[in-house]
Amino acid sequence: MFGHFRRQGGTGSTRSAEALRLVKVSKVYGSDDSAVTALDGVSLSLPAGSFTAVMGPSGSGKSTLLQCAAGLDRADSGIVMVDGEQMTGGTEAELTKFRRQRVGFVFQQYNLLDTLTVEQNTTLPLRLAGRRVDRRRARDILARVGLGERLGHRPDQLSGGQRQRVAIARALVTEPSVIFADEPTGALDTRSAREVLGLLQEAVRVHGRTVVMVTHDPVAASYADAVLFLADGRLAGHMERPTVDEVAERLAHLGDMVAARHDVPAGV
Ligand code: ADP
Ligand code: MG
Repeated sequence: MFGHFRRQGGTGSTRSAEALRLVKVSKVYGSDDSAVTALDGVSLSLPAGSFTAVMGPSGSGKSTLLQCAAGLDRADSGIVMVDGEQMTGGTEAELTKFRRQRVGFVFQQYNLLDTLTVEQNTTLPLRLAGRRVDRRRARDILARVGLGERLGHRPDQLSGGQRQRVAIARALVTEPSVIFADEPTGALDTRSAREVLGLLQEAVRVHGRTVVMVTHDPVAASYADAVLFLADGRLAGHMERPTVDEVAERLAHLGDMVAARHDVPAGV
């Protein structure tokens, strides 16, 4: 099964050279008159150890793309492969198991459990997956994201930036192939945003994870190795080694294009 994608990793675990592949993934919300095509046959391939930003106008399908690629939602058609293995198909329980092993997710609103401590939030994915909880490793990860002194705090005792760093630690703890982040800096001040982006970059450069991050901010996108642009549920461009200015220019252009296609009046 997909033998040519697989190679032996240094730790004895198998890792594919291709972290994520989507083949003609489509998703429609609603039906008949109210049907919205959120994704319209998206195909892409991301190598392991890459950091990709996904950008596009509001409503272009960015969140849907992430949800379908991460197995949080099901595509209507098409194939999603993570780490060389097909995620689509199978039962709900199989999908959940696959996701817990291979995928981490960071949300704009952190999605931490208020009743758990920083350390408990971080180790939760291991408990849910029925895996041994290596507290020392969890504490190492929390120290790395700058929360070594906050293990017993609860989320409401933390700043937004600190909460998002807990969410990143939680995404790292299972050693997933791909970490998906939907506007992870959307609710943060500039300084906290930079810290979070630096940690995502470190997850790629130092720890070999693959990161796919939705953002509307050209500065955030410039931390990535490449940008994929979406418009109306389709891929609408690609940029390697993005700079802030180039990304901003392309986004403005994309917004104009979409507005023209939908007859949006000037100034709206
Ligand atoms: P983005 O993240 O780029 O803003 P989304 O992926 O959230 O875009 O949405 C893409 C399109 O799908 C939009 O037109 C949106 O209104 C629609 N959509 C998203 N989620 C739902 C849903 N649960 N039910 C109905 N329509 C939805
Ligand atoms: Mg969105």
